[in-house]
Formats: sequence, structure tokens, C-alpha cells
Amino acid sequence: MKHQIGAWIALVALSTSACGVARNCPVAVDQKASFMAFPRKFPVTVTVDSRWSMDERQAIERAANTWNQMAEAVGKDAFFRLRYASVRDLGASEDVQGCNLPEGSESEFPVVRIAGTDSWSLMGFTVTTPAVTLRCHRGSQLTKQAIVVNVDLISEEQLESVFVHELGHSIGLDHSCQLDGDSPNFRTCEGLDLGHPYREAVRYPALRIAQPASKLGFGRNVSYSPGSREL
Ligand SMILES: [Zn+2]
Repeated sequence: MKHQIGAWIALVALSTSACGVARNCPVAVDQKASFMAFPRKFPVTVTVDSRWSMDERQAIERAANTWNQMAEAVGKDAFFRLRYASVRDLGASEDVQGCNLPEGSESEFPVVRIAGTDSWSLMGFTVTTPAVTLRCHRGSQLTKQAIVVNVDLISEEQLESVFVHELGHSIGLDHSCQLDGDSPNFRTCEGLDLGHPYREAVRYPALRIAQPASKLGFGRNVSYSPGSREL
């Protein structure tokens, strides 16, 4: 079951690049370890923090639509549906990386707006990390997640692509190549040019404010037990 869902998510992820929407895309051997725990049922409800401005909400809507259109293109249900509500301010939390998330479930998670660097560092992040998808899982079973985005570290123009990227993580897609070396089921980014599908499979955003894109986007995600975070 896991592999089957992973395969069609991969198909969706790559459908605008290497494979083309009409073709069947088997999971490449060097991608097999690039899947993380994913929701078993779609659509997943994304709770949009009421602190987001109207413009920012529209960027989230466009990002969700991007993924939903990709799902539709291969005849699947939408990935996401959005709802707007108050969510807990994780900026006051010190243990978000230890999976101590106050709300959410496998089928619903918040997109939390954070501003300022004090709360960001309290959460354990540096200014070179503008957005994180916090994921908690028990084995291969996703239990809870949250996307946290620091608006002071991202320009308005970049926001939509950041949401696209993080939403990709939320459905279980890891980056498709890793910086810290090769492995049989997960290849290195070394030698791949910027336009390579493996660099773009999570709809890689152009983050170029604080650091070159190659540094921000392709760090191998740090895994935590029992959860992980995805930059
Ligand atoms: Zn990422």
C-alpha cells in the first residue's frame, strides 16, 4: 500500500518534468528512499492560520491549487482543501521539533505564520531556514504535522513557491537528491544541473535572499525521533 501511494505521488511530482502527465512513471531506483510517511487519505485539510494577510492567504491558495491540479491531471482526488481558523501560535513553543505539536492529525494540519527572529530561534531555527515542515510519524505512519513559515525571512514574491515546496513535503515527498553523498536508493545532487527534474521534484522554490539556493534547498533533511523536519 505504501509503495503504491508513493508511486502515484511520485508520478504527480514528476509529471510536469521528466515523465509527462500521460505516461506511467515507475519510481526510479535512486528515488526509493526519497519518500516519507504520507497521509493515507486525501484530501488533507490545511488549516490556514488567521494571522496570514489576505495576500498571503492567496499565495497559500495558489500553492494548494498547484498541487490539486497536478493530482487532477493524473485522475486523483485533490491533495488539499483549505480552511481558515485560528491556530496555536507555535512561536511560543520550544519543543516543536520534538513533535510536541499542540494540534493537528494525519488528516489535518496548520500552516502557521511566524514573524520575527526571537520566536524563530526559540523554536530552534536559524535565519537561514525560512520555512519548515514539521512531521511526526510512528514508523511509516504519519501522525501529525505542521508547516511553519517565517515571513520576515521570505520576500512576498517567494512566498507562493515556498508554500508549494512545503506542501510537497506534507504529502510525503522528500527532496529528490541529497547533498551529503550518494546511496543506492537516494542519489546525490552532485553533478545535477539546476534544471534537472530531481532538483525540481518538490517544486523547488528559488530562495536566494540569505543564501544561495543550493545551500538552502538541498541540505539533507535532519531527522528527529519520532518525527522529522523538512526544510
Ligand atoms: Zn525542502
